[in-house]
Amino acid sequence: IRRIVVVGGGLAAARTCTALRRKGYSGDLVLIGSEPHPPYDRPPLSKDVLAGTRDSTELPFDPQALSVRMRTTTTATGLDLATRTVTTTAGTEPFDRLVVATGADPVRLPGDGEQCALRTVDDAVALRRRLVPGARVVLVGASWIGAEVATAALGAGCTVTCLEAGAAPLSAALGTDVGALFTPWWRDVDLRLGTPVASVDRGGVRVADGTVLPADVVVTGIGVRPSTGWLDGSGLVIDGGVHVDEHLRASAPGVVAVGDVAARWSPRFGGRVRVEHWDEAGAAAPVAAQVLLADGTEDAETAGLPVHDPVPYFWSDQFGHKVQYVGRHTATDQAYVDDEAGKLRVRWYSSDGRLTAWLGVDRMRELVPARKEIAAALSPAA
Ligand code: FAD
Repeated sequence: IRRIVVVGGGLAAARTCTALRRKGYSGDLVLIGSEPHPPYDRPPLSKDVLAGTRDSTELPFDPQALSVRMRTTTTATGLDLATRTVTTTAGTEPFDRLVVATGADPVRLPGDGEQCALRTVDDAVALRRRLVPGARVVLVGASWIGAEVATAALGAGCTVTCLEAGAAPLSAALGTDVGALFTPWWRDVDLRLGTPVASVDRGGVRVADGTVLPADVVVTGIGVRPSTGWLDGSGLVIDGGVHVDEHLRASAPGVVAVGDVAARWSPRFGGRVRVEHWDEAGAAAPVAAQVLLADGTEDAETAGLPVHDPVPYFWSDQFGHKVQYVGRHTATDQAYVDDEAGKLRVRWYSSDGRLTAWLGVDRMRELVPARKEIAAALSPAA
């Protein structure tokens, strides 16, 4: 292998480059990223950066030391699998092996009004400047991001309204009954549930019933879509993310996808999953690197390729609490709730009695045992 091109520029891309070098790859390594910044971490953007306690979240990643040719402010616009080249805004890049790590883009609402999203460090710094005392902030979506932005906006002295289409905060992720347990945390926010938004217009947000809510700042936190536009027409199988197998291999030889952009086959869940969490991107990178280097070799034929199929995990810091969730529950799983003076614990069980997910509020010590229990209950062999 002489030339590996990594398209992305976030956590998954940086970690894959590092892993490739650690595993002994010594050929050309090119990293192509749209943003003007070297790779950085996103979770602190809606926490420390919005709160003003941190400006930089740069990852420990030294392109010079790793001999990575890093092309910032360069966007991949196309992929030609026949000639094995990536087209970019700065020319073409040939490759022997390709890593797709382009993450996800926030979903935007219709309308010609200004709407802030929170995906990049530039988004976070720009939003922080606008969170001033008395500013009327309207959040669309009582989502994980919505809750973290609400926390920062209240801390900055803003007046915060949140419009949520569902019947409870976090209901899209946790269901209405469990989401409702979080409603008391929103007491300082004008939280309007069952309120779908039609558009963001100049000066305000238009609710589906026609009401217009005036706003100085509108923040949309209604989810993300995998960034796959540049792969349209390439022939790669894409449907709700780049389809990869349990070894992270896409539908063309020598191409892998990692992080938010990948819709991977999970033997554990017996289906395809796209996991938009920090932990996923970090854990997938060494597997992708190993697979890229080993696939097709004699070693791989005897020892087999590594499998990436962890139990998903993420956290959120909101309203002064740490929320952690591990596993993956479905709408038909039964939730059991313990509440010890606000320290919530939710355990979801499938109809055959297996623990499928655990959520803890300020219960950091319980995370590791819960994760082990779920991994055992949801092992592909169980
Ligand atoms: P990204 O980090 O999105 O990186 C993708 C990069 O690719 C971007 O820099 C993008 O500009 C670039 N790119 C896109 N298209 C192209 C192209 N065509 N050409 C070149 N470059 C391109 N997860 C948690 O588990 N806990 C949290 O508390 C948490 N908080 C979060 C808070 C915020 C504000 C955000 C945005 C995310 C948060 N996440 C959290 C999710 C976590 O950060 C992501 O899962 C993780 O960043 C995914 O990494 P990635 O490398 O796959 O994608």
